Amino acid sequence: MHRILIIEDEPEIANYLRRGLVLEGFQVTVAADGPTGLAAARETSHDLVILDLMLPGIDGLEVARRLRAASDIPIIILTARDAVADRVRGLENGADDYLVKPFAFEELLARIRVQLRRRQASAGSEVLRFGNLALDTAARELRVGERRVELTAKEYDLLELFMRHPNQVLTREVIYDRVWGYDFGGESNIIEVYVRYLRQKLEAGGEPRVIHTVRGAGYILRED
Ligand code: CA
Repeated sequence: MHRILIIEDEPEIANYLRRGLVLEGFQVTVAADGPTGLAAARETSHDLVILDLMLPGIDGLEVARRLRAASDIPIIILTARDAVADRVRGLENGADDYLVKPFAFEELLARIRVQLRRRQASAGSEVLRFGNLALDTAARELRVGERRVELTAKEYDLLELFMRHPNQVLTREVIYDRVWGYDFGGESNIIEVYVRYLRQKLEAGGEPRVIHTVRGAGYILRED
């Protein structure tokens, strides 16, 4: 599960981003000014920072510079100003990408995925295989035979968990814990729902079922 730090002082924008990213399966921290953001980046490890340029306290460019001095975390800058000079200064100060407000959420999501992929690719990629499934953990891409299958963030996390533990029964508790983590109550049918989504995608070309229900126990990735 990827952790994203949002440093943005406008509550409406921060909440909009947080809600959208949580729905996409990210773990999100929001900081409303530069010093809080820098402290959050120091205290918890994140995979990516979304940074507003116009911030109270320490401005975004300075925050970018300090973040970059401390780590190689990907930084996406949000700017209200469509000024070329700002973009150049942002990139010079260590930002990896920028978006001009207002932007479509899907556009931000696409940029986030590019940055996370790039980072994972440099960290070394791995392709998990099971039967005719090939899951590229760097690109977060699934192939079923020759078919390329798009997965949402949660579907990916769930499938990766299965593919890292083939032929093992995974209990509901383990699945909740690994895929949904703390933000989950435990009483809903969310696992059933996501298993159904995954099965639909994995079996869309008429392929045999590989995620099986083990009654009273959980689920297993198994060929039979
Ligand atoms: Ca601002």
